[in-house]
Amino acid sequence: MKSDVTHEGMGRTTGRGRDYTPLFRFLLSRVGSSWEATFAEAKSRLDTTEPIFWLVAVQEFDRRDYVRIGESTYYSGLYVDSDGTLQVVNPDINESSLDPQCACCTHTFNGVRFTKRAP
Ligand SMILES: [Zn+2]
Repeated sequence: MKSDVTHEGMGRTTGRGRDYTPLFRFLLSRVGSSWEATFAEAKSRLDTTEPIFWLVAVQEFDRRDYVRIGESTYYSGLYVDSDGTLQVVNPDINESSLDPQCACCTHTFNGVRFTKRAP
């Protein structure tokens, strides 16, 4: 993969180069489940809870349709509803509705490759 400086500084940091893919997959798998139990389980596997909140919005104003992690990896934005259940902010967003920013990277949404090509 070639280094592309224009991608740097855009969006959120992945932080210390650690791969949180397993955490994000776990959170996505718990949509519709208790947030309290999900958070407790996720927290027990991490040294910091920060990456949990890259995806999960606890405050309403913090909700996002999707979240970009690093350069070309996207995930559903999640939130906690009034019943304490983990939910997807916008279920209509998927790997077919997002436009890749460039042709040099493999863009994925929730681990699935984008179907649209970069211009
Ligand atoms: Zn690229």
